[in-house]
Amino acid sequence: MVNNQYASPLIDLQSVSKTYGSGTIALDRVSTQIAQGSFVSLVGPSGCGKSTLLRIIAGLITPSSGALAWGGPDGIRPDDIGFVFQDATLMPWARVFENVFLPLKLRGVSRQDAEPRIMNALTRVGLADFAQSFPRELSGGMRMRVSIARALVMRPPVLLMDEPFAALDEFTREKLDDDLLELWQAENWTVVFVTHSVYESVFLSERVLVMGARPGRLLRDISVDMPYPRGRAFRESHDYVIRCAEISAALREGSEA
Ligand code: ADP
Repeated sequence: MVNNQYASPLIDLQSVSKTYGSGTIALDRVSTQIAQGSFVSLVGPSGCGKSTLLRIIAGLITPSSGALAWGGPDGIRPDDIGFVFQDATLMPWARVFENVFLPLKLRGVSRQDAEPRIMNALTRVGLADFAQSFPRELSGGMRMRVSIARALVMRPPVLLMDEPFAALDEFTREKLDDDLLELWQAENWTVVFVTHSVYESVFLSERVLVMGARPGRLLRDISVDMPYPRGRAFRESHDYVIRCAEISAALREGSEA
């Protein structure tokens, strides 16, 4: 059963559908609500519309039908949304500092005003000492941290992440998952996180939305009501294994339906 009973949602998706020009129904009547400050993951097979849903929330594409409403007291605009993609998408010719400066520069912030914000963002992701490095001098995990710092520098209340750690090795990914949760708790962000990994979704999230393909739709809304901070003990706990099994079963049912 899908649970939509969340008080004062920040993001309210009302029967959102998206059909691309090719005729592909990427999303079919997706309704859900995401509360301010929550951490929600989207999981599902390739092609079930996860990226499409994230792009609709980001305002990069519009639904074919249905509506997306923003709640919350502050009237969030698409400008206030940070987006982190799987590919770190850094400018290879520019130093780390310049890469993180870019979104501020585009909004007309001077280098002098930007500097403390850039250094603060780099410190938060543990890269203060690498401000003058080039992307090629960094590991894959460090490049992804730069990409997160570039999103952080805008201090967005909402962070959308599209399989940000999928290309990284397991060890690096777990480390970045830990760091992301720490930042989330410190910053009171709302995070919508797309992943292929059931394990990662359970580790990170308060809620996991399980999606199915053809047409892309919402199958289950599973709550992971375990306390934070979460660490190794949680990854090795019985509760964790049970939740992972529940979500895997929902994915299997979806693919057999
Ligand atoms: P996911 O992120 O779950 O893999 P997507 O949202 O990328 O799913 O894609 C959902 C479906 O829509 C897929 O069948 C995909 O091929 C199709 N699709 C995605 N983007 C486009 C596009 N720009 N034009 C046409 N079809 C698209």
